Amino acid sequence: MPNDNARGDFLEALRLSRRLTQMQVAEAIGVSQAALSKAESGAELDDEKWVQLADLLGVPVEAFFRVTSSAAPARIFHRKLKSTPKTSLNKIAADLALVRLRVKNLLGRQPTTLHRHELEDGFVTPQEVAQRVRDELQLGTDPIDDLVAVLEDAGAVVLRWPLESIRVDAVASWQEDEIPVILIGEHVPADRQRFTMAHELGHAVMHETEATPEQEGEADAFAGEFLLPAARLLKDWPSLVTFEALMSLKRKWGLSLSALIRRGLDAGLLSEADYRTWSIRLSTTGMHRQEPEPSRRENPVALASAIQNFLNAGASVEDLASRAYMYPREFELTFLQEIS
Ligand SMILES: [Zn+2]
Repeated sequence: MPNDNARGDFLEALRLSRRLTQMQVAEAIGVSQAALSKAESGAELDDEKWVQLADLLGVPVEAFFRVTSSAAPARIFHRKLKSTPKTSLNKIAADLALVRLRVKNLLGRQPTTLHRHELEDGFVTPQEVAQRVRDELQLGTDPIDDLVAVLEDAGAVVLRWPLESIRVDAVASWQEDEIPVILIGEHVPADRQRFTMAHELGHAVMHETEATPEQEGEADAFAGEFLLPAARLLKDWPSLVTFEALMSLKRKWGLSLSALIRRGLDAGLLSEADYRTWSIRLSTTGMHRQEPEPSRRENPVALASAIQNFLNAGASVEDLASRAYMYPREFELTFLQEIS
């Protein structure tokens, strides 16, 4: 379905992704800010201005004449974003929207086995949603060996992305009929990455808009149940909670020690007092920052290998980059990061 303002949205997303204001761009190409603003809303500009814009924003000029789907800014779920600078926030939303647009052009329509689930004003709990999503993904109640692989198999696109600037671990976007996209911060330690991804998955399937503090709690509850179902937690929880017992749970379920004691508290298996004692122990020993036996890092591979398959089948990097409205160099840096 061609979008009315595909070109304007693309222009705006590129500008925000490059952290430029309308004024800066307007001055650089010699038009008024009003004219640029109108162009972002769909108005025409002289061809020569599109050439200047392409140079300034670092994309081939044909992109502006070929783009047909919208790169309207993605909704991002994350309350911590409220305290981050608007330009950083806009940049990430624009990056997500551009990834969505580019991936759609590269892969076409890709079915996803994920579904949305309503919490129905409290009649359904996040834990129940987690169980349903586990069922949909045919995970049973067993430990999830590689969560990134599970999400990629479900049709989501996962990429490592520089998110340090907004101090969040991951962002996700899942618009109607689109491929779910999850960007994981490059700075996130492997031990925290699984919980973070499960948390974002929870937002994506349960929530529509920017998260409230209550929804943050729901996403955490979803993540806990998704990674370690209560039915199994009750069986596996040690009668005597020792460090070694927790480490053995960590190895089996791939949850960090801090997430495990939280899970124990929430399930009523660990008392408030014991939870506090363990928290203090993890933090005084520095283990809350760097845990012993860090989990194996899960790396996204699906998108890079789909691209590699195109290359093996005879497509050139130039062709693929052009499909993604990019120059080859940026295309490689963005989408072939896990290959090389
Ligand atoms: Zn969140």
